[in-house]
Amino acid sequence: MNQAKSHLRGELAIIPTVARVVAVLAFVIMQICLLGLLPHYERDIPPMPFMVLISVGGGIIVAIIILLIGYVNADAKRRDMNALLWTLLVIFVPKALGFLAYFLLRKPLLLPCPQCGTPVRADYAYCQKCGQGLRPFCCHCGRAISDDFVCCPYCGKPLGAAVTP
Ligand SMILES: [Zn+2]
Ligand SMILES: [Zn+2]
Repeated sequence: MNQAKSHLRGELAIIPTVARVVAVLAFVIMQICLLGLLPHYERDIPPMPFMVLISVGGGIIVAIIILLIGYVNADAKRRDMNALLWTLLVIFVPKALGFLAYFLLRKPLLLPCPQCGTPVRADYAYCQKCGQGLRPFCCHCGRAISDDFVCCPYCGKPLGAAVTP
């Protein structure tokens, strides 16, 4: 439970400052327009308690959408995906389908190479910069295997001499 909480906090921390500022501004501007200005120009509006509900609720929804857009932008970058393209997609594809597509299709997170620190895709067997092996592999056929395999599932040879990077 605690781990899930700190994971969520870590994920929220990647939201760019610009998105946070825009979200707060959008919320404030909405309150000023709906609660401050609208009653002066429009006589035919719902009673004040309803207006507050609509204004605050709508403002929170708009702010969350802006934060989500910021999250997708930052998340796409750290997964080596086209951040600009995905940001535009989640903004312009209606009914949150852009968000849905993003979370279904996003690539695995990049992990730092233990040797040189370059961000490397999680499914790579070697670092693309320094060639460091990132996971154990079969010394007969070179394919990635798990630590606990006794025989290679690809070539069938025993892994007594499995090479661990
Ligand atoms: Zn490396
Ligand atoms: Zn093998």
